[in-house]
Amino acid sequence: MTETAVDTTTAENTAAETAPEGPRFAELGLDDRVLAAIEAMGYETPSPIQAQTIPLLTSGRDVVGLAQTGTGKTAAFALPALTHMAQAYDDGDLGSVPNTLVLAPTRELAIQVAEAFTTYAAKVPGISVLPIYGGAPYGPQLQGLRRGANVVVGTPGRVIDHMSKGSLDLSEIKHLILDEADEMLRMGFAEEVDKILAQTPDDKQVALFSATMPKAIRRISAEYLNDPVEVSVKTKTTTSDNIRQRFVFIKHHAKPEALVRIMETEPHDAAIVFVRTRSATEEVASKLNARGFRASAINGDIPQNLREKTVEQLKDGRIDVLVATDVAARGLDVERISHVFNYDIPLDTESYVHRIGRTGRAGRSGEAVLFVTPRERRMLRSIEKATRQTVEQMSLPTISDVNASRLERFSERITETLSSHDLEEYRGLVSSYVSEHNTPAEDVAAALVAMVHDGRPLLLDENGEDELLRESSRDFSEDRGRDRGDRPERSPRGGRERGPATAGPGNAMYKISVGRRDGVAPGHIVGAIANEAGLSAREIGSIDIRPTHSLVELPEKLSSEQWAALAKTRIGGELIKIERDSGAPSGGGFRRHDDEGARGGFRGKGGPRKGGFSKGDGGFKKKDRKPRW
Ligand code: AMP
Repeated sequence: MTETAVDTTTAENTAAETAPEGPRFAELGLDDRVLAAIEAMGYETPSPIQAQTIPLLTSGRDVVGLAQTGTGKTAAFALPALTHMAQAYDDGDLGSVPNTLVLAPTRELAIQVAEAFTTYAAKVPGISVLPIYGGAPYGPQLQGLRRGANVVVGTPGRVIDHMSKGSLDLSEIKHLILDEADEMLRMGFAEEVDKILAQTPDDKQVALFSATMPKAIRRISAEYLNDPVEVSVKTKTTTSDNIRQRFVFIKHHAKPEALVRIMETEPHDAAIVFVRTRSATEEVASKLNARGFRASAINGDIPQNLREKTVEQLKDGRIDVLVATDVAARGLDVERISHVFNYDIPLDTESYVHRIGRTGRAGRSGEAVLFVTPRERRMLRSIEKATRQTVEQMSLPTISDVNASRLERFSERITETLSSHDLEEYRGLVSSYVSEHNTPAEDVAAALVAMVHDGRPLLLDENGEDELLRESSRDFSEDRGRDRGDRPERSPRGGRERGPATAGPGNAMYKISVGRRDGVAPGHIVGAIANEAGLSAREIGSIDIRPTHSLVELPEKLSSEQWAALAKTRIGGELIKIERDSGAPSGGGFRRHDDEGARGGFRGKGGPRKGGFSKGDGGFKKKDRKPRW
């Protein structure tokens, strides 16, 4: 295997520092129509994994990419495949049988990749993208396949199902992409992946993306890839000690409110807010302006001289907030920047270091705040690993925190005005109003405050639920240790490490009404729960398969949505009936008994259940869910 790795050493926090200039999208050998879609998305520069992978894939090489979600890997494989498809379209060679197959471990990822692929394909004529995954009825997927899809994004179990039904023709596959390959193996899909790789044309191009490189992935790569180039981005990064780094868990749509609250409550001088796209710079800047902050947007579309003017305004205090993309903020050196907000998480750790280096200049201290959405927890871990620093979790300011700081600023302004202005004339005006109207001076002052605030309330309503805090605490694991991969990994066949099935901290054992006699293997349970109930595979702990039921370790607190989704989850065609395990002995110790029942063993002693056991992803069927589009 050929290896390329960009060993980027990020400079210390010095004034001369600039972010390394990578290639531009236009230099990567992509078709013009694909470039037009990227332009429309507002992406300014390729992420490191894109910069390295795209030229290799467009030139036809097989690639093994060490990359995780959040690095831009979807575009890294989608754009070259679309470039080839655009050329095939021009040559009249793009038929309606699948040209590209993407395998993804979960239904959620399959949908997300299909959505991204569709967006990247927006300007290439004749491309249709179809996600196929377990847990959804076959009908619409069969219809989609019959209508003809150029790009199929599927979970391995469902892809195999369609292959064996004869509904998925893989004879014309030109590109096969394994996305999150390590996760697919961890979820017990090794056999399926092997089978799919073996049954697709020999001359296909293969791209394999994986966050880690265990032996099993190396084996697949050696067996099925043709002299692949291994691509990884190694970053050695240093951050300076005078910058305090914090993060906050937040959902995407709640970011503007969270930003405003932090800015209202934290004393700051100037701030820079990093976003990912040009359009986001404008959107966020206008939201901040609407909330009373003096903010301007800078991005790669704004001419250099205008950008310089804006930076001058920040320097001399005419504005206080810059909302910028990485490109636009390259090398920015403004001493008064006290806060850097990573409003959108960067696509690589090196950008993170560069971004936060915009504060803490000239020996001052600085604050860096990172917004992390549920899918981005892994990037947070990478940042901590690369910078060898812990980023502390911060809690969002409450409504009463906001009100307290508004009151404080309010009295500060009065004190300052009293001490710095000649108020003689105004005092005379107020006293004549007081005597003429026989009104107390407090009432007059209160009326003046209302006038200054233009009728808007000074304080927020503290009664009622704080939506922002509720939103930001839901769906995020309370136990960060779990996200850090501290928990035992499952074996490649979907089994868990052996050991007593007692729940770890923050977890509980749940009883599921299907067991070994129903032919259930750990992979089915993980597949069904991860795909259906919106739990990540990592949140599923030990699995103990008993003859008539199974015990599975899940987070102690499940939301009502997760309970509702679990209640509708099927394994082997059966609704699973799940409940908290009371711990009552039901024969056998808390141990896995599933050695013989690993994937492939779909028939337990009792034969298949009523309705038959469908070997989907996790072997479950569900009738009432529709694909998102
Ligand atoms: P992915 O790792 O493919 O899931 O991408 C993570 C996020 O980054 C997605 O929201 C993409 O839309 C976005 N993204 C991917 N490439 C770029 C880029 N070059 N510039 C800005 N955003 C990007």
